[in-house]
Amino acid sequence: MRVALVTVGDELLAGDTVNTNAAWLGERLTDRGATVERVTVVPDRIADIARVVNEYRAEYDAVVVTGGLGPTHDDVTMAGVATAFGREVTRSDEALDWLESEGGYTREDLAEGTADIPAGAEMLPNREGVAPGCVLESVYVLPGVPDEMKAMFEDVADRFSGERRHVETVVADEPESALLDRVRDVREEFDVKVGSYPGETVRIKLESTNAEAVREAAVWLRERVESPEAADG
Ligand code: ATP
Ligand code: MG
Repeated sequence: MRVALVTVGDELLAGDTVNTNAAWLGERLTDRGATVERVTVVPDRIADIARVVNEYRAEYDAVVVTGGLGPTHDDVTMAGVATAFGREVTRSDEALDWLESEGGYTREDLAEGTADIPAGAEMLPNREGVAPGCVLESVYVLPGVPDEMKAMFEDVADRFSGERRHVETVVADEPESALLDRVRDVREEFDVKVGSYPGETVRIKLESTNAEAVREAAVWLRERVESPEAADG
């Protein structure tokens, strides 16, 4: 299953907030066997959200949108997603009922617009906060607050799947350029995807849906690269 992430928020673009939601979702979705193929950050602007959501829902099996929920003036994600589908946002009675029965709010407590979602969308209750999320066809709309986003994602996590990939990492204490021959050979010999991540050492990541292939490739490669010295002491 191919997934795109759309993270919404001017503060993400300005660098005021680090986009930890994208990293967390990338990891959780990958764990589940889904493949994240795009992460896009868009401003709190209806037209930008609508354009990207529309493009990605045509291209990917699912789109996960986070941030910009709720009634404040700069929270326009629901309007953006509704626009992508040519729909209006409407007050969700289901969300209001949930907030009254489970959230401990009365309707009068809640600011105008708190429970608005695109017409016809499935409401997702916000167990850690207030503003609900929703699912509209293949588009999942989750909060921006990380704890709220995580709790809501877990409620729908089983809708994201794919064949589980196995990963092993081989660490090499050699310059990346010196490793090119063995990286080429391991790719030729084994049915694995190979990633090379240089730092103080080079981390070579081997990945496949075939666990045996990954194991064998890791053994083969470890025998052929300079492994880092054990830490002193
Ligand atoms: P609320 O309903 O509480 O208004 P929200 O869904 O509208 O939440 P935002 O207003 O977009 O979320 O952001 C709320 C908080 O979550 C902000 O502090 C913001 O910095 C943080 N946040 C938003 N998006 C992300 C992200 N992608 N990664 C990490 N933090 C984020
Ligand atoms: Mg908000």
